[in-house]
Amino acid sequence: MKWLGRIFLALIVVALVASGAFVLFKRRIGETLFAHAVEENVGRDRAAELPDGLHVYMCGTGAPMPDPNRAGACLAVLAGQRAFVFDVGSGSVRVLGRMGFPMQRLERVYLTHLHSDHFDGLGELMLQAWVGGGRDTPLPIAGPPGVSEVVDGFNHAYRIDSGYRIAHHGVEIANPAGYGGMAEEIAPPPPAGQVVFQDGDLSITAVPVSHAPVDHAYAYIVRYKDRAVAISGDTTYNDNFVAAANGVDVMFHEALNEEMVAQIGAQAQASGQRAFAKIMSDIPGYHTPPRDAARAAEAAHARELILYHVIPPMPGAILYDAYLGDAPRAFSGRMRIGEDGMLVSLPAGLREISVTQAVR
Ligand SMILES: [Zn+2]
Ligand SMILES: [Zn+2]
Repeated sequence: MKWLGRIFLALIVVALVASGAFVLFKRRIGETLFAHAVEENVGRDRAAELPDGLHVYMCGTGAPMPDPNRAGACLAVLAGQRAFVFDVGSGSVRVLGRMGFPMQRLERVYLTHLHSDHFDGLGELMLQAWVGGGRDTPLPIAGPPGVSEVVDGFNHAYRIDSGYRIAHHGVEIANPAGYGGMAEEIAPPPPAGQVVFQDGDLSITAVPVSHAPVDHAYAYIVRYKDRAVAISGDTTYNDNFVAAANGVDVMFHEALNEEMVAQIGAQAQASGQRAFAKIMSDIPGYHTPPRDAARAAEAAHARELILYHVIPPMPGAILYDAYLGDAPRAFSGRMRIGEDGMLVSLPAGLREISVTQAVR
């Protein structure tokens, strides 16, 4: 047994030396890792490395309730090398930054509706597009009637900050002509939808959906070459959306689990939180349960369904099966719950749908 004791002793010595070396060189290791990360990421145009096609950056898969893993509603689309953002909830611009979204190629923002959880990241996006993206014209922000009031408000709120940026970085970097946003109102489209952007083989269609008491809520369908995605925005199950989304590769649909929200509401009521309980009883009426999102994807013959604007928050994937319940049975394609940092890629000319976790 003597040899066993020696081996044990040797192992302890090795462990002590290794941990001692780690403590001793911790600073050096950190410096090396940081230098490597800078070399890998700064100045790299990750979007340019993607194949020609449609790419959807899942920049915000959450809703207004606080969620440690999900920013507010946001999907960004790269069509070829042209970039668009659909809704910009709080925290989502930082997800875009981490994903390497090409802010310098951002052409336009589309808002689905004017609930604040869909635009409360707009100030940050306008600033990033202006200074980081080197704009020399204001960022176009398209949305339903009322969008001018929202954009004017952000322009006003960021005016003082813009002066500081110009003074600090100079007009070559922060060109005053590129500051802020420029509202573009999209008139309520007919039930079948209206093309709001068309250029060559890229088109964007706005479709009216149902989110009362919100006056105007739009879904968007993006088509590029032979690939297409549908973005529901906030809505109940909606026939217009299903019809307009016919045959898309991927449907992105909002979702609310009614049973889970009811449980939260009952607990809030029991503990005397009347306002919170009332909100929990109100919201299922204008959102879509997972089984209806599955029905919508099936009726639209979508190939894949990804849920976003997920209510209530789910701290971990362990809850996903409970959240989905029987919903996946209503859809013959693949159904999944979206997460921030996912990149959904549809290369042109192929049938492939690749979903990767670009960042966590
Ligand atoms: Zn809404
Ligand atoms: Zn919402």
